[in-house]
Order: sequence, then C-alpha cells, then structure tokens
Amino acid sequence: MIIAVDGPAASGKGTVARALARHYNLPHLDTGLLYRAVGYTVRRLELDPRKEADAVAACDLDELTLADPALRDDDVGQLASIVSAHPLVRAALFQRQKRFANQVGGAVLDGRDIGTVIAPDADAKLFVKASAAVRARRRLAELTARGREVTYEQVLADIRARDARDSARSTAPLTQAADAASLDTSALSIDAAVARAVALVEGRVRGRSTAA
Ligand code: C5P
Repeated sequence: MIIAVDGPAASGKGTVARALARHYNLPHLDTGLLYRAVGYTVRRLELDPRKEADAVAACDLDELTLADPALRDDDVGQLASIVSAHPLVRAALFQRQKRFANQVGGAVLDGRDIGTVIAPDADAKLFVKASAAVRARRRLAELTARGREVTYEQVLADIRARDARDSARSTAPLTQAADAASLDTSALSIDAAVARAVALVEGRVRGRSTAA
C-alpha cells in the first residue's frame, strides 16, 4: 500500500505520515529532508541556490548529510524552498522518491507533490492543512525546544514566504490532488489528527477495493 501525505510547512503532515507508517508497519520517507539537504549542501559549498546549475551540483546526497539535525532549521527550510523550484533539482530527486514509493510492500511518503507527481496512483492520499497562525505557533514551539531564538512574527513570515513560493512555482507546485482527502489539523490534538488520518486511509482503501 502506498500512502501519499502532502501539505504546507508545519501542517502536521510529518507527524501524521510517521504515525501512519507505524500503524501500517510501512517504511516512511520525509521528502522535504531531501530538498533541505540540497539547500544545506548548496550553502556549505558556497554556491548560489537561485542558480539551477549550482543547486543541481548539490543533489548527490549522502546519508550523513541527511541525518544532520541542522537540516531542520528554518533558514534551511527557506533554502530548500528556493532550490526545490528548479525543475532539474526535482528531476534529480525524482527516481529516489519513486523507488521508495514503489518498493515491495508499499510505503508512506510526505511532501508537497507526492499525490500529484511522485505517486499519482497511491492507494490513499491525504492533504494535511492548518491555519498559518496555528502552524507558526507549532513551529515556534519546536524551534524554541531546540534552543533556537526566534519570534512568532519571524516564524509566521517564514511560513507565509514558503507557502507563497511553494504554491507559485511552475514545476510541481504545492496543490491538493483532486483525489486527496483533506485533513485540517488546526483544532486537533496529535492523537485526534492521527485517528482521523487512519480513518481516512481506511475509507480510501475500502473505497478502492469495492470499486475494483
Ligand atoms: O516539508 P519541509 O517543510 O521539510 O520541506 C522543505 C521545503 O522543501 C518545502 O518548503 C518545499 O519547498 C520543498 N519540498 C518540495 N517537495 C517536496 C517536499 C518538500 O518542494 N515533496
């Protein structure tokens, strides 16, 4: 079974995807981490994230970089959103994600274009969202817990900038697949969001088997 989980920054999609992976005992890939690693490598090599050729040169990712906790920082999220707009960067990361999605037994992937581009035939697709204010509060709590000194206004501005860039790009923009179920986590606890996600996946999978 392939489960695609998409949504904007800090919507809860990562938490939901990890919980679904545990629930169904499936491997999970956070595809945002791939783009973050590219952005981070571009900066480390002192290249220009706005130049497609520079960003492509940073697409050969090693496992050590992917495990670096610095990838979670907000400035790396911004770099990720800049490099991810280049079509050749998306093409360079495509096969890796596609292979992960199509492995025997299935997988859960979360990102921005899983249901639309990477796994358009996924068995279940969720689009996880939440208001910008709720997302900013969550991200602020996460960053503060990791000792980062940021304000609510900075985090909210970062989320808005990334939403705008991710939605406006011409290649694989952030958009809900026509056949994805919406899950608004604004007013839900983590447990409630996960329970709802499992119910939505069950509904999709049952729907598919009766339609077949
Ligand atoms: O999900 P996360 O916030 O870690 O993603 C970081 C950035 O990577 C996003 O803002 C987006 O620009 C990019 N991304 C993407 N496609 C994906 C996953 C992430 O363009 N499938």
